[in-house]
Amino acid sequence: MTDASVQKDNAPVAPPNISAKLSDLMQEMRSIFVEREEEIAGALLAMLSGEHVLFIGPPGTAKSQMAKVMCERLQGGSFYYYLLTRFTSPEEVFGPLSLSSLQKDEFRRRTEGYLPQANIAFLDEIFKANSSILNSLLTILNERMFHNGNEVVEVPVLSVYGASNELPDEEEGLAALYDRFLYRFFITTVQDEENFLKVLTSTHGDGKGTSISMEEISVIKEDVSQVVVDREVLQAYLSLRKHFRSQGVYVSDRRWNKTLLVLKTAAAAMGRKDLDLTFLPLLQHMLWDRPEQKEGLRSLLIDLTGSGGVDLRRLQSSSDELLSLLAKAKQLSASEVQFPRPVCCYDCGSTFMSAKELCRHGEGFPKHLFMDPYAREAQGVNPSYRKFELPELMHVLENVRGWKVTCLRGGAEQRLYAREWQELRSSYDKVRGAHEMERNGLHESLRSNIWLSQRDRRDILARQDRRLESMAEIERSLREVESELKG
Ligand SMILES: [Zn+2]
Repeated sequence: MTDASVQKDNAPVAPPNISAKLSDLMQEMRSIFVEREEEIAGALLAMLSGEHVLFIGPPGTAKSQMAKVMCERLQGGSFYYYLLTRFTSPEEVFGPLSLSSLQKDEFRRRTEGYLPQANIAFLDEIFKANSSILNSLLTILNERMFHNGNEVVEVPVLSVYGASNELPDEEEGLAALYDRFLYRFFITTVQDEENFLKVLTSTHGDGKGTSISMEEISVIKEDVSQVVVDREVLQAYLSLRKHFRSQGVYVSDRRWNKTLLVLKTAAAAMGRKDLDLTFLPLLQHMLWDRPEQKEGLRSLLIDLTGSGGVDLRRLQSSSDELLSLLAKAKQLSASEVQFPRPVCCYDCGSTFMSAKELCRHGEGFPKHLFMDPYAREAQGVNPSYRKFELPELMHVLENVRGWKVTCLRGGAEQRLYAREWQELRSSYDKVRGAHEMERNGLHESLRSNIWLSQRDRRDILARQDRRLESMAEIERSLREVESELKG
């Protein structure tokens, strides 16, 4: 081997793009921690966007291992883990008092290896935090600052993962702590039997695999400000806000802002310059307060993701309306009675005993004129017969003579219906075209969005399919109208 080839083999290659790396990292973690797809994506995205994550669920569900492995994948990251109890003292979390500083009458802690110097922290049983550590903990979570003696030091923590068996009681004064966690997950034990066996034999990884550096995280952070939020996403935020208000749920402006920042971080991490609707499902783990709000929120987000802002219900109701109008008109023309006396054509002398016959003649000979059958009585012995065009005659018969002359086929009404149908049809075609394009586009956007779970992708597409079904229903009504019109 020549020097040149050694040189070539060791030459730096272009760094793989961050998005692919993140995707690999999540894939590797998903093979270690089965049935934790959404939690892994959430924990990673929280780390990139500087948010904290709360895991609620029974012990022994691999929450701490997951946080530990996540930290191992952060190059040069330092991890801090602690299981809190009611009796946990500040020394155990923030570090022991420094003896040398005490000798100088100062009150300082040696924080190496404790929470104030961690990049990722996992605090198990976090709601056991007692008042002696709660305030410092809140300051770290909120401001990433630690008051060490007289000094205020910055805390380099990206994310604190907290775990608890249950949500805190409202009386416990832990609402502020609960509020610091933007991401909230309920973790259950592994459901699938095969997956359970996998967990039994799993080694929780060996710390090797794809990792991400602090520099890469800063690159993502810099790109966040360049992400443009699509109009539809803002529209969806308005719908969400309305939803929460109608439920009497208060979401602070600060929380709304944070969620949008997380979504923008998700887009930036994928190298994207725009934030589209497919990022919305990520909000399902950020916007609920009480567990019973979870399902409704998710369903709404799935709906919003799959709707391109087309109101299918309106189209459906206009086509139904037209159909029932036609049915009514048809009924009228079917119950059409014989004329009390014949109507005569001035031009060819034919006589007609019903509106149907009359209209057919008018269609066949549009230039022929007709006479008013009562003209003789009305005008006496020497009537100057007035000649009428068909529509005018119909008007006289109906309004002056009081006859029932409704005639659908060939009549003005039918032309009106036909025009209305044409309009409906063309707006349906437009919607249908947009919908199909949207579905193809959506398929692609969903597939390429690394943060979405299989479950989310599947449910969004299923929702789309249901919309396609209702499109088919509209199509059927329109066809029915069409065949009615053609008679
Ligand atoms: Zn005629």
